[in-house]
Amino acid sequence: MRWGFIGASNIAERVIPSLRKIAGQELVAVCSRSAPRAQQFAEQQGLASAHTDLSELLALGLDAVYISSTNEQHAAQTLAALDAGCHVLCEKPLAMSLADAAAMIERADTQGRVLGTNHHLRASALHGRVRQMIADGAIGRVHGVQVSHAVYLPPHLQGWRIDAPGAGGGVVLDILVHDGDLLRFLLQAEPRRITTVTRQHGLGQGQVEDSAMSLIEFDGGVLAQTHESFVARHAATRLHVLGTEGALYAEGSLTQAGGGRLWLRDAAGEREIEVPAVDLYEVGFDAFVRACAGQGAPLATGVDGQRSMAVALAGLASAASGQSQQID
Ligand code: NDP
Repeated sequence: MRWGFIGASNIAERVIPSLRKIAGQELVAVCSRSAPRAQQFAEQQGLASAHTDLSELLALGLDAVYISSTNEQHAAQTLAALDAGCHVLCEKPLAMSLADAAAMIERADTQGRVLGTNHHLRASALHGRVRQMIADGAIGRVHGVQVSHAVYLPPHLQGWRIDAPGAGGGVVLDILVHDGDLLRFLLQAEPRRITTVTRQHGLGQGQVEDSAMSLIEFDGGVLAQTHESFVARHAATRLHVLGTEGALYAEGSLTQAGGGRLWLRDAAGEREIEVPAVDLYEVGFDAFVRACAGQGAPLATGVDGQRSMAVALAGLASAASGQSQQID
């Protein structure tokens, strides 16, 4: 497939080596709001052309685009790319409103193109194993999950994420959106209510939160606690799944690195479960490319992206109102 990149972003630089591992992919062009940044990105990544006009990029006859602009641009760029006949792998959060996400999903359907959401944590072999073990009843009936996804936002990313609510800044739209998706993926259940408290602990500016804790209630009664933060220096990420017969505990899996360690504790004691580290973005791109060729679905579809957004938006509404919120 011939690919274009919309957004000369940090994450685009990071995922390009993963896309290059997949046979048959030609990386063609980039579009940025800034001509010098587009030019520099194209040169560094070896792309043939650099653009500031999206319609110019879309006139190149591309097969697919990867959208990693700031969040408020995702919806309009996705609609334009779909109308130009491209498949779209869009970064999370898919959009800024559920109505925009619905329009994106509908347009992909009418244009017969694939729309994927880059929820990379689904690609983890460790998370796949946890999902399978939950489904197999390895720890009995699951009743609780704890997610500690608190990190320190590196200085080079301390821009719109901490001071621009209009661009979708804040830890809720940045990380709770991933945790909402991961919980749906692991539990194979839908979240119904959320109670969220947000705070600023030194990075968030104006109204933008840098820390959040939530309680999410799932169909079937599972309760999940999540903690997202931009200010947690030297913290390990943790995932703890609690069942009636045992528990699964993972450290270091809620990252971009694709590794982590997993332990099972039950009546037989504690043992580590070996899981291979994988390139999360390669696995995600591979599934997306296959989906574009008519084989299966992307790891996270447009609908999955809309549902994870619903969790995050309800979390923000809960934090603002001080009340628990139904997840639409
Ligand atoms: P960046 O801040 O690096 O890039 C976002 C946009 O900001 C770019 O498209 C670019 O806009 C502009 N920009 C980039 N660098 C500069 C600069 N030095 N000065 C001024 N403007 C700049 O954001 P991220 O790459 O971290 O995130 C982009 C998207 O990807 C977001 O939607 C985010 O949520 C998502 N993301 C997803 C991850 C995942 O693992 N799934 C991980 C990280 C991010 P333009 O090109 O128009 O000039």
